[in-house]
Amino acid sequence: MSDNWRENELSLKEVIAKYPEFPPLIALKIDVDRRGVSYTQAAFDKVDLSVHQTSKQKIGAGTENEREVDVPMGITYRDGTVSCSTDHHEVTKFTHRDPYVIDVVDGKLFLFDQGEQLEEITYWEKPDFWDKKTSNGTPMRKIATARPQRITIDVGDLCHFWDKPGNGCKYCSWQANALGNGKTTGCTRTEEFYQDVYETFKEALKQKGRFSQLHVVSGSVLTGEELFDDEVDHYIKVLQAANRAVDEAKYPKFPIKMVASAFSKKQLERLYKETPQTTYTTDLEVLNEELFKWICPGKAEFVTYQGWKKRLFDSVEVFGRGNVTCGLVGGVELAQPNGFKSEDEALEAVLAEANDIAEHGVTFAEIVWQTRPGSAFVHQKVPSLEYYVRLAQGLADARRKNGLHVYTDDYRRCGNHPNSDLSRID
Ligand code: SF4
Repeated sequence: MSDNWRENELSLKEVIAKYPEFPPLIALKIDVDRRGVSYTQAAFDKVDLSVHQTSKQKIGAGTENEREVDVPMGITYRDGTVSCSTDHHEVTKFTHRDPYVIDVVDGKLFLFDQGEQLEEITYWEKPDFWDKKTSNGTPMRKIATARPQRITIDVGDLCHFWDKPGNGCKYCSWQANALGNGKTTGCTRTEEFYQDVYETFKEALKQKGRFSQLHVVSGSVLTGEELFDDEVDHYIKVLQAANRAVDEAKYPKFPIKMVASAFSKKQLERLYKETPQTTYTTDLEVLNEELFKWICPGKAEFVTYQGWKKRLFDSVEVFGRGNVTCGLVGGVELAQPNGFKSEDEALEAVLAEANDIAEHGVTFAEIVWQTRPGSAFVHQKVPSLEYYVRLAQGLADARRKNGLHVYTDDYRRCGNHPNSDLSRID
């Protein structure tokens, strides 16, 4: 590790003692997201490919131990919340702090820190559709991924902000592979894809009790008559295909969470009328105009910070108070050299802006910033655990003060956002 970080920040136990109202399991989950995990061989041996959802990763590169391992795509805690990015630490290369260790005791999986046994966790189980194919021969796992609570469809598979070098969001690693393939623009979706969506979602709905939400997400698609028109078209086709499966299963409705670009009011009204969608999420990512320009240059160029904010407020007029969410990359406001110089200063500014946004009827979905390979911010250092606890609490307080709910982001439907995880104690 690069520095004596344990001496410079409060430990998990100290944070839990200092903030007794804050759920200890959420504090642990944040810390796991912040520091990452590594697996002992016994923990790798507990991966069962017939049961668990995994991805292949190469570890021990350049050594005699070099090998490919099957790494769980996520872990669940005993309160039902999740950690989504549980790649082996060697692969994620989170710098500056030691990862938590996943090991096995009496046949069960536990998190450890400095040799101390902490919480029991489980690996995510794969959904029933995981190993099936559509009539087009497409593996359904290429159409949808699954958390314990929800199914996700990537509506557009590329983000146009990367078309211009340096214009992608600086914390984002999503397009690293696409850049490697020389493909950053357009969208590879065809009519066949929408048929695959219908068949995959139809299959998913057969697994009773598994999914409480359909999550649709896309990188920003800038093309069309109006900015984002083609992205809106993709969403409409995907949601109509999925809704065909809902109708056939004879469900009156199925909860949908859309995470999309900041659409115009005309586009939002189209979505509201032409799809069964009742909520909408669009991500400002960082609640500061100057930092937004630096960290999300593509968004700043095409929409601007104030423009994105206005579109958030406009969407409340379409979907209603509490049905619009703003995604945030928690902690990225402390990226250097342009970010806030202290955690206190960052918190004060970010929460003041959050309160203004919440007053307009918008809630928040904050994720814990991870410095992933492929992102421009790979060598940055994320804030302390205490910062994240105060941020999650402040965002939850802003929501409560304004009487807003977190329907699509609570632990039953999502379980990924520290601030909305707190809704269970409203
Ligand atoms: S909008 Fe930003 S965060 Fe989202 S995919 Fe594009 S570059 Fe990544």
